[in-house]
Amino acid sequence: MSPSKGYIAAALRERIIQQAGRRCGYCLRTEALLGMPMTIDHIIPQAADGPTTEENLWLACRRCNEFKGGQTHAPDPETSEWIALFNPRQQTWAEHFAWSEDGVEILGKTPCGRATIIALQMNNPEIIVARRLWVSVGWWPPQD
Ligand SMILES: [Zn+2]
Repeated sequence: MSPSKGYIAAALRERIIQQAGRRCGYCLRTEALLGMPMTIDHIIPQAADGPTTEENLWLACRRCNEFKGGQTHAPDPETSEWIALFNPRQQTWAEHFAWSEDGVEILGKTPCGRATIIALQMNNPEIIVARRLWVSVGWWPPQD
């Protein structure tokens, strides 16, 4: 019996969790802050024919994964140019994003970073409220 499209074997899931350091590849939240298991993100979404193979999979929180949905590109808010979304497996977070001085907002350093922030609503009001609380108790932003 061949596995169905989109099926991710337990061993592969565990390998991706390890590779991702148990945190969301986009917003860097950990399972401890989420209070729920992470999801496996298809970097190129299945809706855009992204395969269910290790090189197309990464860890994402449910929030980032749901906002991302079937998107592959989004406009850079500075130029309106359509840009491929951040690839957490191939690109380095700190090259494309930074934390605001108060640690609450994610700032885009590149067109890719800026487009991804908009597409995944990485600074929407609910998450800003949550991050403010985490900063106030010293849980945020991540130091690495
Ligand atoms: Zn996330």
